[in-house]
Amino acid sequence: MAELIDGKLISSIIKDECKARIEKLKSEGKEVALAVIQVGDDPASSVYVGNKKKACEYIGAVSLSYHLEESATQEELLELIDKLNLDDKVNGILVQLPLPKSFDEDEVIRRIDPDKDVDGFHPINVGRLSIGEKGFVSCTPAGIIELLKRSNVSIEGKECVVIGRSNIVGKPMAMLMLRENATVTVCHSRTKDLREVTKRADILIVAIGKPKMIDASYVKEGAVVIDVGIHRPDPDSKKLCGDVDFESVEKIASKITPVPGGVGPMTIAMLMNNLVNSAE
Ligand code: NAP
Repeated sequence: MAELIDGKLISSIIKDECKARIEKLKSEGKEVALAVIQVGDDPASSVYVGNKKKACEYIGAVSLSYHLEESATQEELLELIDKLNLDDKVNGILVQLPLPKSFDEDEVIRRIDPDKDVDGFHPINVGRLSIGEKGFVSCTPAGIIELLKRSNVSIEGKECVVIGRSNIVGKPMAMLMLRENATVTVCHSRTKDLREVTKRADILIVAIGKPKMIDASYVKEGAVVIDVGIHRPDPDSKKLCGDVDFESVEKIASKITPVPGGVGPMTIAMLMNNLVNSAE
């Protein structure tokens, strides 16, 4: 049976480290502040924004909330970002995505000062990651690196397969694993024989967005399996599942992340980590 990689525990350790780092900054007279912008009233976005505010509170950072109506214009949003970019008291700026359809998300992301882009979505930060320069890294893949390292999974020289090539998970994940000296293969919907590729993986990272798609037939015996997916298969139930069929895969993997309690809690912890890095 696979050992569980405990994202809840590891994320709380990271948040406690952030708290200690903020205490040190405060002792030097520096406050740390995250500006969170929400546009419209999408209930899922409101939950995410609420969780980010709670995490700020926990680590001792100030969270500044900005709420624009769905009827607001792109210009109004850009003006707010410009104002926050110039505000020395603001260390990080986060625009909760997705934005309502009338907004141009790419333009919004590009308007954020790259040195306050704690989500790591700005093309400058994506470029920094790909050429090995310091910069903000997308929180979910950065959290997966922490999960692996803090669970004593060695990455160097390992065969790593990432399923999914999205800009926020798959691609930065592949770049980070490459930076850690893994041999990396990225799969996607046009990959011809997915099983043949995934069965080679010592570390398999699954970010497909398809509930329980990856069962034991895709996994090599003893592999480490990281499940990024989050789904609520039954809307009336609180039960969540991932992209991995946990019951099937835990029988042959050496380590595995559960859903919930695996990758999910790491995303906010790494956001806090990025925020403190920005302030430092
Ligand atoms: P996405 O943008 O929808 O990307 C999915 C990727 O999977 C695409 O690259 C797609 O290939 C590939 N794919 C789809 N069907 C496939 C198939 N049958 N075989 C192989 N590849 C396939 O999703 P995402 O934003 O990366 O998110 C992935 C999952 O992670 C979702 O469940 C999401 O909810 C979850 N997520 C969790 C967190 C967290 O904090 N835990 C954060 C972000 C996302 P193509 O490029 O060819 O279309």
